[in-house]
Parts: sequence; structure tokens; C-alpha cells
Amino acid sequence: MRPEDILTLTPAGVCCKRGGFHIDPTRPVERALITHAHSDHARAGHGAVLATQETLALMRLRYGENFAGSTQAIRYGEAVALDGVTVTFHPAGHVLGSAQIAVEADGLRIVASGDYKNVPDPTCAPFELVRCHVFITEATFALPVFRHGDPDGEIAKLLGSIKVFPDRAHLVGAYSLGKAQRLIALIRKSGCDKPIYLHGAMEGITRYYEGRGIALGELRLVRGADKASLAGTITICPPSALNELWARRFPDPVNAFASGWMRVRARARQQGVALPLVISDHADWDGLTATIAATGAAEVWVTHGQEDALVHWCGTRGLNARPLDIVGYGEEDEPGEQSAVEARE
Ligand SMILES: [Zn+2]
Ligand SMILES: [Zn+2]
Repeated sequence: MRPEDILTLTPAGVCCKRGGFHIDPTRPVERALITHAHSDHARAGHGAVLATQETLALMRLRYGENFAGSTQAIRYGEAVALDGVTVTFHPAGHVLGSAQIAVEADGLRIVASGDYKNVPDPTCAPFELVRCHVFITEATFALPVFRHGDPDGEIAKLLGSIKVFPDRAHLVGAYSLGKAQRLIALIRKSGCDKPIYLHGAMEGITRYYEGRGIALGELRLVRGADKASLAGTITICPPSALNELWARRFPDPVNAFASGWMRVRARARQQGVALPLVISDHADWDGLTATIAATGAAEVWVTHGQEDALVHWCGTRGLNARPLDIVGYGEEDEPGEQSAVEARE
């Protein structure tokens, strides 16, 4: 039995022919197993979807009730048999409901980790290490230059800026699923209990997080707030909204952006970000390499991001690694969806 007899790459993404399913397919398929609800991994239009309850609920919020022919919820650690293949889902620490999917047959275990991070996040279950023979990993920040550091220090920068500019509004660009809620939780953890304002595009997902027991303090919608009352406040919005007409309703706004990419100064400058906050929901270089080593996998498949550096690193460790070159992952800011909501704002 070779790993390729269990999982192979097809035009729709990683496929288990024997079990009759794809993992995070980029095209509509009969049966899809979904790691998490970011739009590059979770698409509408599949026949049947197997995912955690949270991922299914978040997909429903985004795509509507009929996003798939049928759905089945699976709990972390629960085993489901699919035509002689056993699958289990394990926390990936990326966003609420995110999972690594372990596929097992004839004593061989392959773990497809989706997107993951191995640092604490108050808004989702912590990453669980799953020992395996083959580990499928992302490579979003797979360059030694990417070391995310301490997110609390970044929050301190934001709160410090508000002290220096009490008459200005602070707009923080953050992806609407996961990053926005983690940011709010981090701000609360730092001791700030003032109301935090939300762009309308984030309302549904954020309310869902609260419904799952994640305390986020007092949240207000920007809609209807008068300009003067927004001085000295924090508003979380989709990154794309920072440079749109929408931002003109704020008094002299300071633009911040919470992302692992903010480690790259030129990128922050290019996007007109005055206050870059290095906060990421992906593992950094140390996180990726430490995780790969800890899985005990002798073989590593790399799905998306900076594949070359990671494949090279694996080689120096005597691991057999290859890039999968899957097209369609890595775009998490869902521009289409956001502009629809912004139009109503
Ligand atoms: Zn993701
Ligand atoms: Zn991704």
C-alpha cells in the first residue's frame, strides 16, 4: 500500500478514490470533506458535505441553506468509515470549527491539515498533533523571515496608538471569519472593555461565535453611528473596506491591518496601512517546521503558499517532500461577498 493508493491529486483537489470523497475540493464534487469554512477551502455546490458542526453552520451563513445536497456533522475524534477508509477530524487551531482530516486505510495514516496554527487562540480549539505517515501541510508563511511573534504585543501597539491619537478613529482590517473575532478576543484579554465597532460584513459570523460561547464584550455596528462618536474607537472591518468610500464616515482614521503579511513592510506601505499588526491565523516558519517534525511523518505533501522553501527544508531533514501545486487556495478575503454587504452599508 502506497500513500497514492489512498489519496491522489485530481483537477478538483485531493481525492480519496477508495473512500469516494475529496478534501477541500475547488470544484463541485459528489462527496466533500471540508477542513474549515474559509471560502478557498469551503465552496458551495457539492453533493454531500462532511464537516464539523461549526464549519457547516458557517458555510450556511455564507452560502445559504442549500449550499450542499446534504450535510453530515462530525465531532473532533469521532471515526467515520467510508468504503473501507476511516476518517477522523482533529482541531487545527485555525478558526472556529477548523479541522485536520486524518484518512486511514490498511495501517497507513495520512493527515490533511488544511490551514493551521500551533499557538493559543481564545476563539477556537487548540491544534492537536496527530502522528502520521504522510502529513499534508499548507505553506502560507513558509519562509524563515516569517516569525509572527507575540500577538499581545501587537494589540499593545494598537491601544498605544489610540492613546496618542484620541481624536482619531482606528480602523483595523481583518478577515471576517476568524481573524476579526480573534482580534476582538485579544483586545478584551488586554483589559480593554470599551465598545468595539463592527463593519456589517462581520456581524453574522461574529454573532455566531458569541452563540458558541465565545465572549467578545460589547459590540456595536458602525451603521448609524455619528462621526464624532467614533473618535478614539476601534472598528474592525474587511481589509478591502479600508480604502473604500465607507471609510470616510470616520474622523481622520488611522488604518491598521492584522495579518501575517504585515511582517513585510513594503506590503503594508503599498496598502496604505499606517499601523501594521503582525497577527496571523497560520503557522509561521517555526510553527510549520516544528509541526512537521513532530508528526513523525516520513513524507510531506505541500498544498499552497511558499512551497519551495518548505520542500527544501524537508529534504535537508531526510523527509520525502513534494509540492501539490493546487490552484485555488490562499484567497481568504472573499472580495465578492464583502462588496455585496458593503453596498448595503
Ligand atoms: Zn483558512
Ligand atoms: Zn487556506
